[in-house]
Amino acid sequence: MHCTPIENWIMSKTGIKSRSREELKSYQLYKIKQTICYAKKHSVFYKKYLKGIAENEINSFENFENIPFTLPQHVEHNSIDFLCVPQKYISRIVTLRTSGTSGSEKRIYFTDNDLKLTVDFFYSGMKSVVDEDDKVLILMPGNTYGSIGHLLKAALDVLEVKCFIGDVIKDYADTAEFIKDKAISCIIGIPIQILKLSRIYPEIFGDNIKNILLSADYVPEVLIKEITDKFDCRVFTHYGMTEMGYGGGVECENLNGYHLREGDLYFEIIDPVSKKALKPGKQGEVVFTTLTREGMPLIRYATGDIASFKKENCKCGTFLQTMDRVTGREDNIIRFNGNKFIHMKDLDEVILSFEKVMDYKISIYEDKTTIGINTLTVEDFYRLRNIVADAVQTIIPDKIMVYYLKKNIEIKNSMLKRKIYDCRKKVLK
Ligand SMILES: [Zn+2]
Repeated sequence: MHCTPIENWIMSKTGIKSRSREELKSYQLYKIKQTICYAKKHSVFYKKYLKGIAENEINSFENFENIPFTLPQHVEHNSIDFLCVPQKYISRIVTLRTSGTSGSEKRIYFTDNDLKLTVDFFYSGMKSVVDEDDKVLILMPGNTYGSIGHLLKAALDVLEVKCFIGDVIKDYADTAEFIKDKAISCIIGIPIQILKLSRIYPEIFGDNIKNILLSADYVPEVLIKEITDKFDCRVFTHYGMTEMGYGGGVECENLNGYHLREGDLYFEIIDPVSKKALKPGKQGEVVFTTLTREGMPLIRYATGDIASFKKENCKCGTFLQTMDRVTGREDNIIRFNGNKFIHMKDLDEVILSFEKVMDYKISIYEDKTTIGINTLTVEDFYRLRNIVADAVQTIIPDKIMVYYLKKNIEIKNSMLKRKIYDCRKKVLK
């Protein structure tokens, strides 16, 4: 097994000489101080928010952990106040719709240098996934400058790997045809869409696809297991979000958690209640700080994603830290009376284990739960609707009756993360 290519890349980028975490950590602390200084000087938000913080006093990570978190709500209300360069230097603005009901939006700004750093990360990360004989199809947005697909293609061009941009899947038959036609061997896409594609057109996975990279949302384990067991192909997962500069970490050939982009980002895992940093092995919220961002640095940004650092080193032999696969988001845990809760990953494991189910939508009300399923055929729908509802009933607390929606629903996927729809008037926190 080869050591993750991310390791060499980080060493050359940071200039650290030995394969040691201490040296990498001291580089990160130095960059954290620099970022605080830069953000306080140039961003209207951080000038106010970190007013009492003297970057010279940040001499340890313990000190740094006293700095307040930057929350998504801060960015929603003040995106422009985070800018550290004049707008004329911004070459890509991403507008993110938020899951809240206020309808507010977050804008994330990137300079050309910021985008180049992402291409650099994708270039290194993709070395584990593909080689020069592969033909890659990116099933994510990529037709505009600086979009995720565009940056991935830029990285693959440098690697001299043939690559096509296909956007988020709208027509599964067309996508399958394209894969056959062009003899695509690697696809990069949204987890639930790739599962659906593999369930409708298993033959293209058996014949064509050898490597899959999943991104943009957390990846249900049932999905990885099914595709790996059924077909002779490797399933890599990538962790990232727009705020991170799209890329955050990617799995090596060992396929067992992400190696993080530690030269550009500093990651913490925080206890959701005490807000204190957690030790490896303990699950909490992922928090990151940008170390090299020019347009819009973020300091201790709380992502809402749930994960843990691995206790043990990766079998590939790297000294880099490994983060276990993200298991969902804080806002995808629905709480009920009596400290009971349900997590989207539990629903995924139950509902997606039915191979004729392509996708589902679940809504929780005070007195009932409704579930809409999208099945391969109408016959599958009539055969499965009660069985799926019964299976969900076993994991819904509070004896809230589960009803199925009466017809096979169409579910459109996008780059937005999947969620449980909590329609209760009073939401328990
Ligand atoms: Zn590894």
